[in-house]
Amino acid sequence: AALKAAAAKSKEAAEAGAPTVFDKIIAKQIPSTVVFEDDKVLAFRDISPQAPVHIIIIPKERDGLTQLSKAEERHTEILGHLMVTAAVVAKQEGLVDGFRLVVNDGPQGSQSVYHLHLHLIGGRQMNWPPG
Ligand code: C5P
Repeated sequence: AALKAAAAKSKEAAEAGAPTVFDKIIAKQIPSTVVFEDDKVLAFRDISPQAPVHIIIIPKERDGLTQLSKAEERHTEILGHLMVTAAVVAKQEGLVDGFRLVVNDGPQGSQSVYHLHLHLIGGRQMNWPPG
């Protein structure tokens, strides 16, 4: 319940334009292990990995994308670029037998950081259905 309340608070703050923890990672105000970066996106290792490989891929400019369900036509290019980046990073990480890409959206999706991100997860057998 405390975690849910914290997520709800950070959702509201992000929607009002406040920076999230990912903005601090982009600004290098808090350290992260970056595995890929260009002018539009950043990919770094998740601080709490759920598999041998667990990478977070984010747009550097949030541009209203606190979560995927806020996507509009203008986001098409960055969303495509994030997906292509996932493929590039998966290759770079040696995930030749496959991987999983996850977007958590909103409370029921178990989203905690309200800056759109892809989870690239791999290095072990995944199960279906997910939890
Ligand atoms: O999709 P969701 O919002 O639940 O996931 C946020 C992810 O960001 C978590 O997997 C969490 O471990 C990760 N994170 C991180 N570094 C931080 C804060 C969160 O890698 N400083």
